[in-house]
Amino acid sequence: MIISVASGKGGTGKTTVATNLAVSIGSDVQLLDCDVEEPNAHLFINPVIELSKKVYTPVPQIDEEKCNFCKKCAEICRFKAIAVIKETVLTFPELCHSCGGCVEVCPEKAITETGRELGVIEIGHRNHLSFAHGRLRIGEAMSPPLIRKVRSYTRSDQFTIIDAPPGTSCPVIAAMKGADFVLMVTEPTPFGLHDLKLAVEAVKILEIPTGLVINRSDIGDDGVRTYAKTENLPILMEIPFDRRIAEVYSRGRLVVEEMPEWKERFIELYRHIEELIHCQNNRL
Ligand code: SF4
Ligand code: SF4
Repeated sequence: MIISVASGKGGTGKTTVATNLAVSIGSDVQLLDCDVEEPNAHLFINPVIELSKKVYTPVPQIDEEKCNFCKKCAEICRFKAIAVIKETVLTFPELCHSCGGCVEVCPEKAITETGRELGVIEIGHRNHLSFAHGRLRIGEAMSPPLIRKVRSYTRSDQFTIIDAPPGTSCPVIAAMKGADFVLMVTEPTPFGLHDLKLAVEAVKILEIPTGLVINRSDIGDDGVRTYAKTENLPILMEIPFDRRIAEVYSRGRLVVEEMPEWKERFIELYRHIEELIHCQNNRL
């Protein structure tokens, strides 16, 4: 079972929910932090890192000895990552999306592939919790391939929680696609509602069942609750604005460990999600 914890807007408490949920469930759980531009789940989990390795994506390199400057590579590239100017072929690796199209069309077999570093992936554990995250290289613009690499560590024998990046663009889709459930963390403010609507629309396209956690639930207004009712989105947990929770968070600690009364609530959240997934599967 894969649960992706997402949020349209950053700063809603997504990582707090993902980490506390993962730790509450117990054994046979893995947490994949796919927020590769700004991974921070490790600050709360403090995993023992066992493996660290660089991740590369293929980009073209040209053998100008073989090239006849026909421009077929430049014509097929939708991302302007190759240009042929007179008898010179220029490549722009940072623009390349690694589709392999140029390699395929080259009539002279003048294009081979080399690697552009995307970032680093780190694998570890904390007691019985398996952990993996990616760190995007500074200056690297494409995070989905690194997110997919982190997700390749999904183990079918474990319950998987994905901490997705915020937003509604390609990176979050890469972190949600194929999940059994998307847990959307939001806050009851006009900004929270605006970004929640965008995120829910994206999840609808992916046809994944969704539920909400409302963080700082006793501030703001009723807009999110009204929207949830209209869209038939279950509100699975509400976390009030509590100075003690904020203090625990600011010390890099887990709420379920510092305030044990929350552990049962997170276990309850997990059970509720499990029920919703079973109901969905029975309907299919
Ligand atoms: S397709 Fe191959 S032969 Fe043609 S310009 Fe590109 S690299 Fe050269
Ligand atoms: S691999 Fe695809 S994106 Fe990259 S340069 Fe070749 S055609 Fe362009």
